[in-house]
Amino acid sequence: MMIPRDCLRCHGRLEAGFVVDHGHYGSPDTQNWFSGTVERSFWTGLRTKGREKHEVTTWRCTKCGMLESYAGPQNPSVAVTGKWSDG
Ligand SMILES: [Zn+2]
Repeated sequence: MMIPRDCLRCHGRLEAGFVVDHGHYGSPDTQNWFSGTVERSFWTGLRTKGREKHEVTTWRCTKCGMLESYAGPQNPSVAVTGKWSDG
């Protein structure tokens, strides 16, 4: 996985983080990337079943605040602790 070393805009230092989503019954969760185009579902909001999925890590420039998101298969900043499996 490509990990950014510094900001593309100002070359400031990037720090790893994540953007919180409130999609699961209002409880905070990370953003996820899914393959394909958006398909809306009456029951689940968006169809995600059977799609390739990657948790998104967002890097923030400590100097200018620019955000850079990565959805890699091996995500070094994600530590799963007691999280329910959602398939
Ligand atoms: Zn910057």
